[in-house]
Amino acid sequence: MRPEDILVPTPVGVCCRIGGFYIDPTQAVDKAVITHGHSDHARAGHGAVLATQETLDLMRLRYGESFAGSTQAISYGESVALGGTRVTFHPAGHVLGSAQIAVEANGLRIVASGDYKNVLDPTCAAFELVACDVFITEATFGLPVFRHGDVDAEIAKLLHSLALFPERAHLVGAYALGKAQRLIALIRNAGYDKPIFLHGAMEKITRYYAGRGIALGRIELARTASKAELAGAVTLCPPSALKEVWSRRFPDPVTCFASGWMRVRARARQHLVELPLVISDHADWDGLTATVAATGASDIWVTHGQEEALVHWSITRGLQARPLDIVGYGDEDDADGVSEKTELGDAT
Ligand SMILES: [Zn+2]
Ligand SMILES: [Zn+2]
Repeated sequence: MRPEDILVPTPVGVCCRIGGFYIDPTQAVDKAVITHGHSDHARAGHGAVLATQETLDLMRLRYGESFAGSTQAISYGESVALGGTRVTFHPAGHVLGSAQIAVEANGLRIVASGDYKNVLDPTCAAFELVACDVFITEATFGLPVFRHGDVDAEIAKLLHSLALFPERAHLVGAYALGKAQRLIALIRNAGYDKPIFLHGAMEKITRYYAGRGIALGRIELARTASKAELAGAVTLCPPSALKEVWSRRFPDPVTCFASGWMRVRARARQHLVELPLVISDHADWDGLTATVAATGASDIWVTHGQEEALVHWSITRGLQARPLDIVGYGDEDDADGVSEKTELGDAT
């Protein structure tokens, strides 16, 4: 049996014909197996969805009760038989509930990792290395220039700025699912215990994280806070809100943006970011290459991002590798770095 007899790339996502499902399809299908809740991977309108409980809950929060015909929750380490395959979920370390999906048939194992990072994150289960024959990987930061560095050093920069400018609001652009909650947890881990303010678009997801037992401390909505409360305090908002009328009521804001793209100075300048924070929920170049090597896979399929360099790197290591050319991944979270979308329709 060849890998393509188990999983085959199609323009709308990777398809498992013998199992009767797609992984992270970008269009509505009968049966979808979903890695995580970011909207480029988890779309509404599928007949049946298999995902972790957290991913299903996050989809429900975003799309409403009838986001799929039927749902089935699966835990990390759990397997289900689908058609002629065995499907097992493993933590991907990307956002709450994110999973790598291992598909096995006839002794061949393919792992579709969705988005992932191999550094610790206090808001989700740690990435688990799964040995496999074929590894399907993202390549959002798949260039040697991308080395994310130490997140605690980035948080220290933010706290230093707060101490230096106690009269200025600190507005931090961050993606609503995953990044915002991770930032809050990292700020808490650094010992900061004052209230952290939120743009309304992040409220539901953040409350959901807190409800799942992730310690986020005191969270308040920016819209109910006075100007004096916002001065010298941290407010998180979707990146797009940094440039919107919404941001004008903040006292002399320091504009911050937490993203892997902040490694690129020109990007920070382009977005008028005064304090760039290099914090990403995707593996950097070292993380991607170390993971690809450690899986032991001899065949590497690259879904999205900077595919060329990772494909080239793999081939020089004697592996087979190819880009999958799937259109539609990377319009949420770090993957484009300039998302203009505001989540959940609450623009306040
Ligand atoms: Zn993602
Ligand atoms: Zn993605």
